[in-house]
Amino acid sequence: MRDVDVAIIGGGPAGLAAALGAKKAGADKVLVIERDRELGGILNQCIHNGFGLHTFKEELTGPEYSARFIKEVLSGDIETSLGTMVLELGSDRVLKAVSASGIQEIRAKAVVLSMGCRERPRGALNIPGSRPSGIMTAGTAQKFVNIDGLMPGREAVILGSGDIGLIMARRLALEGAHVAAVAELMPHSSGLKRNIVQCLDDFGIPLMLSHTVVGIFGKDRLEGVSIAQVDSSLRPVPGTEKLFPCDTLLLSVGLIPENELSKMAGVKLSPDTGGPIVNESFETSAPGVFACGNALHVHDLVDFVSEEAQEAGENAAAYAFGEAFSGSSAEVVPGNGVRYVMPFSINPKKVKNNMTLRLRVTAEKRNAALVVKMDGEQVLKRKKMVFAPGEMETISLSGELFAKRPNISRIEVSLEDK
Ligand SMILES: Cc1cc2nc3c(=O)[nH]c(=O)nc-3n(C[C@H](O)[C@H](O)[C@H](O)COP(=O)(O)OP(=O)(O)OC[C@H]3O[C@@H](n4cnc5c(N)ncnc54)[C@H](O)[C@@H]3O)c2cc1C
Repeated sequence: MRDVDVAIIGGGPAGLAAALGAKKAGADKVLVIERDRELGGILNQCIHNGFGLHTFKEELTGPEYSARFIKEVLSGDIETSLGTMVLELGSDRVLKAVSASGIQEIRAKAVVLSMGCRERPRGALNIPGSRPSGIMTAGTAQKFVNIDGLMPGREAVILGSGDIGLIMARRLALEGAHVAAVAELMPHSSGLKRNIVQCLDDFGIPLMLSHTVVGIFGKDRLEGVSIAQVDSSLRPVPGTEKLFPCDTLLLSVGLIPENELSKMAGVKLSPDTGGPIVNESFETSAPGVFACGNALHVHDLVDFVSEEAQEAGENAAAYAFGEAFSGSSAEVVPGNGVRYVMPFSINPKKVKNNMTLRLRVTAEKRNAALVVKMDGEQVLKRKKMVFAPGEMETISLSGELFAKRPNISRIEVSLEDK
């Protein structure tokens, strides 16, 4: 049994920023545990640019972005344990990890959950048809192409318009494959607008909204898929099926926070995000267990992951020094048109300079405004031309708002007409 101040599970952008945050806040023994052979997380396979615009005011590739944090971590008296997977975590913050050298037990004063997220696989979708090879998640295809140097196929269809699918449509096209279409069940894309323009429009790849794959054909290798239009209840419309010959079907149908360890530690999960319910300090319902990054809620921009995770790390260090994060809190509730708001509760006394809320809307809405109410009183209205579910919204509430209302019990965020 080893003792550390802060144990960080996962060495992706969230884990790296949390480690730096914990160290900056004065924690002595900070340990980052990563199951992969390298630090950097999913960014190692994201070799396209578009990372770091907010943080560094320049466009970096994924590996370039994470390299800046890795350098700081490795020169900062922070211990890293690579090739080590955490298998168990208790609510007492004792964790069990396995590596080539065996099993170790670690007792941490505070733990940061930063395990990232996983892609929804085909099994979760129930597409009828045979089970040939050539069907994989977009992230798996990305690893094949960008890390292993292998082409998954030559003629591809992509189901789902999440960012990974959009990016892989362009990547396959650049490598010489033909991407016949991206089919999206919803009437809107779940990816960023900039990715639709740069990854599909620029390459002449059609985005078929309100369409889905209804059949899979082929015995050993995929030979084609059938795509049909769906109605407003998302049910396929009979007679609209069209056959697309292809040898590859990529699934980009959603990401879910990694939550096995969170569950094991007795952390309460949100049905809306799939990740832990946290307060303003990123502390979960298990005292001393903090969460950040995609393990908390799925982000589209890594800059926000780093920002959040640094704070989570600082708070984990403070907890290790004996600070308590409980106390009377206002619940944060999604109102009309809002799917979820992070964090789920705020203790006004814990808000320092300002408080950042991150949220997603339920459906696309034009000429609308996000309205924040504290105990029914409107305190902020932010107008925007278009709100889309694929783009995370950020609202900053000043510390003054909380200082004036130390006993509020409810904060509601809703999407209203402008
Ligand atoms: C294809 C793709 C394209 C993207 N494009 C952009 C973009 O252009 N711009 C942008 O800003 N953002 C982009 N993002 C988003 C950004 O990359 C993510 O938000 C960010 O990487 C999330 O960081 P994370 O640390 O939470 O998760 P991850 O990067 O997934 O890291 C989690 C780490 O935890 C480790 N881990 C998990 N479980 C365990 C365990 N039990 N024990 C030990 N280790 C464990 C994993 O191995 C992994 O290294 C993209 C993401 C993807 C997938």
